Amino acid sequence: MNKYKDALEEMVCQFAHRGVKDGKSVLHTGGLSALETAFTALGWSDPKNLEDRDGDTCDVEGCAAWVETQGGMWRESGYWCLCREHSYAYRKGEPQPKMKQRAVDREASRGEDGCLPIK
Ligand SMILES: [Zn+2]
Repeated sequence: MNKYKDALEEMVCQFAHRGVKDGKSVLHTGGLSALETAFTALGWSDPKNLEDRDGDTCDVEGCAAWVETQGGMWRESGYWCLCREHSYAYRKGEPQPKMKQRAVDREASRGEDGCLPIK
């Protein structure tokens, strides 16, 4: 474990530009030189493809957009993490779309107190 590399990666994940390319969530530099230097130091391509992950990528099946809102949408079935488009679909009164299996499994793992198990 390299604490400097880990710190740089965490900072880049927080501040790099977010987007979707070819159906995948990506981070990119947006042409900012400090981010370009950091991506190079980390050995990352620009854009860098990211894995579908709880809290980062929308819970709706087939959606690779970034999470912008959490909880309150289709709440009778779970605490969903949604992108802007799917959050708006909820506000327009659309029915709940199919959710990704990782999100369904996450919600099914909540205890009686509503909390997720500690990993
Ligand atoms: Zn979405």
